[in-house]
Amino acid sequence: IRPDGDCLGSMIGLKDMIINTFDKNVKIVGENSDSLEFLGKCDLVDDSFFNEALGIILDVSNYERISDQRFKLCKKTIRIDHHPHENDFDIEFEDTKKIATAEIVTKFLDYGLKITKKGADALYVGILTDSGSFKYKNVSANTFLMCSKLLDMGVNVDEICNKLFVDTYEALKFKGYVLLNFKTTKDGFSYMCVTNDDLKKFNITYEEASFTVSLMASLKQTLTYALFIENKDSIRIRLRSKGPRIDLLANKYNGGGHMLASGATLPSWDMLDKFISEIDEINKKYMNN
Ligand code: AMP
Repeated sequence: IRPDGDCLGSMIGLKDMIINTFDKNVKIVGENSDSLEFLGKCDLVDDSFFNEALGIILDVSNYERISDQRFKLCKKTIRIDHHPHENDFDIEFEDTKKIATAEIVTKFLDYGLKITKKGADALYVGILTDSGSFKYKNVSANTFLMCSKLLDMGVNVDEICNKLFVDTYEALKFKGYVLLNFKTTKDGFSYMCVTNDDLKKFNITYEEASFTVSLMASLKQTLTYALFIENKDSIRIRLRSKGPRIDLLANKYNGGGHMLASGATLPSWDMLDKFISEIDEINKKYMNN
């Protein structure tokens, strides 16, 4: 659900690799993302396609978060992912040390799989977006090695950048609003609350609003940060950290993810203060160690 650059990038890249190497009929299913449409779109597939098929699940370890639940009709499933294990698949290829699932998939080039520029672009976007443009902890020498292989296949970093990091006028104005209005606690938790009314007022999409979480990272005193955004009957939390481990707190709030980048849910705004005091405790412990 809500596929990001790594999710769609690794799907589109792996499909490209398989069809250019083997005689296979490959379809990708799930949701699309407006901001990533330049990479390609998911296929429309009948239920019958799933029978006797091998389902490859990328960048998700939890049944509930797989948007097309027809993966359950597949004859066999493989999960290729950098998230920690949650639910079981027939074969699991998990490496939580990798910054992106696309980094794992790119390695398949070393085993003779072929790729076109279109596939390489998709994998590069996966690595670029999940690494916050090569800024996060799990970026390694291997990350750059994999990117070098993709650049050899024709990826132009400026071309990708100009397609990916663009805003509408309204979305850019909304960034300004976030920068002017986010709050920071004395223990280093920076956060912003976004309501449905905000989306209407600024005339922006839910996806555009959710991207603004990263704006709070550069504040010197920020240790952990989050965007709280209304989503139907609950509040989605996009939670991030520059040091303290946050995934265990996310687990407590019906969420999960990585040690330094997780997602969770609040049932209502009434729970906000409790959440803030818990993350502040985590920050305090981290600072005292
Ligand atoms: P997000 O803030 O949605 O970009 O999520 C950050 C990371 O946490 C991503 O790797 C997501 O796959 C993961 N994540 C988000 N929400 C959940 C959840 N409810 N359960 C498990 N993992 C999640």
